[in-house]
Amino acid sequence: MSELKFNTTEVLAWDLDRLDPLKSYRDLFSIPCVQEGEKSEEAIYFAGNSLGLQPKKVKSYIEKEIDDWARFGVEGHFHARTPWLSYHETLTEQTARLVGAQPLEVVVMNTLTVNLHLMMVSFYRPTMNRHKILVEAGAFPSDQYGVVSQIRFHGFDPHQSLVELKPREGEDTLRQEDVIKVIEEEGSSIALILLGNTQYLTGQAFDIRSITKAGHAKGCQVGFDLAHGVGNLKLQLHEDGPDFAVWCSYKYLNAGPGAVAGCFVHERHSKNSQLPRFAGWWGQNKETRFQMKPEFDPIPGAEGWQLSNPPIFQMASLRASMEIFDEVGMAKIRTKSDQLTGYLEFLVDQLPQGYCQIVTPRDLIQRGSQLSLRVKTQAKELQQRLVKRGVICDFREPNIVRVAPTALYNRYIDIYRLWQVLDHDAKNPA
Ligand SMILES: *Cc1c(COP(=O)(O)O)cnc(C)c1O
Repeated sequence: MSELKFNTTEVLAWDLDRLDPLKSYRDLFSIPCVQEGEKSEEAIYFAGNSLGLQPKKVKSYIEKEIDDWARFGVEGHFHARTPWLSYHETLTEQTARLVGAQPLEVVVMNTLTVNLHLMMVSFYRPTMNRHKILVEAGAFPSDQYGVVSQIRFHGFDPHQSLVELKPREGEDTLRQEDVIKVIEEEGSSIALILLGNTQYLTGQAFDIRSITKAGHAKGCQVGFDLAHGVGNLKLQLHEDGPDFAVWCSYKYLNAGPGAVAGCFVHERHSKNSQLPRFAGWWGQNKETRFQMKPEFDPIPGAEGWQLSNPPIFQMASLRASMEIFDEVGMAKIRTKSDQLTGYLEFLVDQLPQGYCQIVTPRDLIQRGSQLSLRVKTQAKELQQRLVKRGVICDFREPNIVRVAPTALYNRYIDIYRLWQVLDHDAKNPA
């Protein structure tokens, strides 16, 4: 399929769908409907980077826990069909495979921003000479608030301690060589490098390995926010070597609103019980947890950062979703995503000149399953016109529409339909 030449015929879209090795997976998901006058139709859903669709088996997975709670009460911690005490461990191996980590290096817990703070407590340790945090300009607001509040918490001034990477004049995305250059030039005063990968607004993917290597050569800690990377990019966190990574599970991972998030801590930190951290009883050595002793003896690895006993209903939902990812594997998901995204790119390039512009890098290794389109009109109004025609994608003020074709449930014909709607919109200005 990689040699494939795209064209603008609808037949091609149907052919591509017929040949798609992952086509059967769409049936595992509930596709939302949109109301079109009297009739209700399946939406053309491109917001999987915002809230992934529901795997149909989520319901029975959650019901199982609700039933076990009714049947067993507190005894469910030990006697539920999947005992709650060790429930999160059922997700460890799959999560490790998903992000290319060792099982010891990953845990599912809390929500994303909470995990980001927990990781910064351990890995942002500013000193007078080394107090900066390096982030991409225009990072997701929660990450911006997070880093600024951490800087202040340590008594430093964000004006001096926050360094933002900006694209060159007239460019939308960062050049990898510019990122490395800033690290080489300013690295000795940088305590932490933290990048969103892929970048939520532009869809740009950074090379985790070379950024990590450059950061470590300068003595910086390196972390990644993979909110838009997990379930999207092919990750190999252990080998690439960042100190930590965090992600949420309701975007590409399809685990539902407010889903329980994930965290990676590199093996090199797994036995370092001297690392400062905010601790809770669920991070305590499992042998002694219920002895309720005052000394904190963390579980080696990422599990040692857990705070509370986990939300079982949310974990049940995550489990239903992770089984699908684990069955397919990220290699196949990435291959199809590249095809879908490439097809979208081709069609967008056929739209009338000047209607919109692709902000996301053209280079495949610098992006995942998202194209961000800068539109000439108000993005919000365009997005509303799209909704009227059954297309769900998301917009960011003032003029970016983000389209995320996901491999597990999007079809080529969905992309073709989106293109038809955009083409109509371009030729019939509101
Ligand atoms: C989606 C997203 C968040 C959201 O944070 P929550 O704690 O899950 O609400 C944070 N950061 C980035 C980069 C995101 O894409």
